[in-house]
Amino acid sequence: MRDHILRVVDTNLDEIFEITKFMYENPELGNEEFKACQAMCEAFKKFGFEVEREFCGIPTAFKASYDSGKPGPTIGFCAEYDALPGVGHGCGHNLIATSALLGAIALKSVLGEIGGKVEVYGTPAEETDGAKAAMADQNAFAGCSVVLMAHPAAIPETSGSSMCLMPITFRFYGKAAHASACPEEGINALDAVIQLYNGINAIRQHVPNDTQFHGVITNGGVAANIVPDFAEAQFYCRAKRKATAEAGIEKMIKIAEGAALMTGARLEHFRHEAAYYDLATNQALCEVFVKHQREMGENVRPAGKGNGSLDLGNVSYQAPCVHGWFGFEDPNLVVHSKEFADRTVTEDGRQMLKRAAATMALTGVDVITDPELLKNIILEFEAI
Ligand SMILES: [Zn+2]
Ligand SMILES: [Zn+2]
Repeated sequence: MRDHILRVVDTNLDEIFEITKFMYENPELGNEEFKACQAMCEAFKKFGFEVEREFCGIPTAFKASYDSGKPGPTIGFCAEYDALPGVGHGCGHNLIATSALLGAIALKSVLGEIGGKVEVYGTPAEETDGAKAAMADQNAFAGCSVVLMAHPAAIPETSGSSMCLMPITFRFYGKAAHASACPEEGINALDAVIQLYNGINAIRQHVPNDTQFHGVITNGGVAANIVPDFAEAQFYCRAKRKATAEAGIEKMIKIAEGAALMTGARLEHFRHEAAYYDLATNQALCEVFVKHQREMGENVRPAGKGNGSLDLGNVSYQAPCVHGWFGFEDPNLVVHSKEFADRTVTEDGRQMLKRAAATMALTGVDVITDPELLKNIILEFEAI
């Protein structure tokens, strides 16, 4: 089975690598990835997948699936294809997309024998407002037995974790008045924001160590001789786990309510961007993934600190997930740079595409053919 998967990957490698290069030459920002989406969908159709465009109502999202018609698990792969301003595919999402594509082609070739389904989710705008969050809100991944993704990196690492990031905006509405002639008539919305800001500073020592609050005042009034009738502040709460970040947000809301009470201003609060949940890597799944990654020649190191945030985190609360890091083995290579983008279309990039696609397909085969493994994956997932 392994030899067959590797043969299918090899046979189609050059054709699919052309799509990596096409994306490199035509980088598109988040939610504008029309060319990349089109190229992916055309390739999936050509290889016999069913393709749903504008998946979840998102113009550049898609879902490509192949059902063997025999019972078995559903293996999900995520494909990202957004680029960055100035540096094009400096995060290597052109390789993420094509690894999912080539991996799915290889896995599909054995499904007639082993059963199950493969589904590839085209997930736009990872670098900006992360479509996976909106897609997870619509339960897009709930039908997957597992979800896998392969991300290029300087050094290969295990899936690890990422921080949960929750945004919140506070708006206070007061009453304008002349600041000297009749201040007693005014309600000072800026005072409410200042109380909120200081209150949040005061609770920093009384929350779990990994809780972070970051905030700015985005509106503090218009003129010094007018009592501000409107003021606004934007905050993020970051934490290792979703539940901790949610608790931090609840504390901020309580402080904001207190600030409104103290000043008489009216409070509104809302989420101004998508929340990114922490990545809850499924360790049972990760072990199998890393085993295949190593057999493909990657010297995988343990995951680093994971202080960033990934929208795959939201998926990991809906299905067991792995976000594998494939490495160019070049510690001097910096992600989000032009040099990183250039590397994706070299022979190194071509070899990484091969290793990542094979790892994804071989992990899928194991999940489908090893019921004990799937049982352990699900048990662990249900405990998060
Ligand atoms: Zn990035
Ligand atoms: Zn990235």
